[in-house]
Amino acid sequence: MDLYEHQARELFAEHGIAVPKAEVAATAKDAGAAARRLGGRVVVKAQVKTGGRGKAGGVKLAADPAAAELTARQILGMDIKGHTVRTVMLAQPVAIEAEFYVSYVLDRAAGTFLAIASAEGGMEIEEVAAVRPEAVARVPVDPAEGVTEEVAARIAAAAGLPDGVVPVLRALWQVVVREDALLVEVNPLVRTTEGLILALDGKVTLDDNALFRQARWGEAESDPGGDPLEAEAAAKGLNYVKLDGEVGIIGNGAGLVMSTLDVVAGCGARPANFLDIGGGASAQVMADGLSVILSDPAVKSVFVNVFGGITACDAVADGIVRALESVTLTRPLVVRLDGNSAARGRAILAERAHPLVQQATTMDGAARQAAALANAG
Ligand code: GDP
Ligand code: MN
Repeated sequence: MDLYEHQARELFAEHGIAVPKAEVAATAKDAGAAARRLGGRVVVKAQVKTGGRGKAGGVKLAADPAAAELTARQILGMDIKGHTVRTVMLAQPVAIEAEFYVSYVLDRAAGTFLAIASAEGGMEIEEVAAVRPEAVARVPVDPAEGVTEEVAARIAAAAGLPDGVVPVLRALWQVVVREDALLVEVNPLVRTTEGLILALDGKVTLDDNALFRQARWGEAESDPGGDPLEAEAAAKGLNYVKLDGEVGIIGNGAGLVMSTLDVVAGCGARPANFLDIGGGASAQVMADGLSVILSDPAVKSVFVNVFGGITACDAVADGIVRALESVTLTRPLVVRLDGNSAARGRAILAERAHPLVQQATTMDGAARQAAALANAG
């Protein structure tokens, strides 16, 4: 689970990392009042779980409480990369002398943590890494050893950061360990003109498997704030995960869906999502699933793969037919029905004879068709 910036900075402060004084507001009026309490001049920052807010116009300086109220009115409700701004954070502005980047991220491939640091913070680190890779230091962190004074000094030296960031690097590691984080990122970590080191922005991803012992985020969990399609699917009770590819996938049972992803990948196409309609999937669930997948513009074809056990294939076919009444099918659908009531299910689809719906009898054959359709655009 990703945290909002204001939640991340709460964790930073608890672990002794200095952050500017700030408040959160959900209305423009409250934003104005908060600005007054903070001394008038504030930075107004959109609270959304995505980066690049500055570029999108979601981070603005306001000279006084009236300006803060006006700016908050502009930012609240704004759409940033598909995320609607529901709250803003008002922060005391600081005079920046230098902007750095520091993060710890779980490196799954290497089975360890990685410290990534750069003296060229502020911009997105991917850009810095692309243009000047030598400006981004990557130092493996052994989780058993942790970030000792010596390790922190090594990270700072590798990135050309001042000694003042060493305590911050150590405290940030405590956030990883104590808060069960998979990612902790500060961009920018700044040195102010008075020589203070402050975290001006924060991104924290918590390990969902540890949320049971991070009770205070329980409420945040019910506010996904992540991918809008995932949120929509969650609201419909669907088990949906957005992926980067072009073939939409619907199947029954997590195991079958996962092997479907593999088979599609084996056919030279990329799955656009994981969607498990579960065991006793009703016609309604099928219709909801299709409508979520079809609202993803990246999807070029959809593969429905159902092996009927408890789920009867005629119910699935009914669901597809019903979904076709409410959703305009703009991309081809390949359906493979097998198992319980497969013959009846296939007959229902054959009778509907939608020009964009085709059937296949095997999983491999269906995957090949769906992949070919996606690759043909
Ligand atoms: P992001 O665009 O989503 O990463 O949002 P940030 O919180 O990182 O803000 C973007 C940029 O705005 C930062 O890199 C800073 O340069 C600037 N910024 C943010 N907060 C302050 C502040 O308090 N004072 C000043 N002078 N600049 C700020
Ligand atoms: Mn940032």
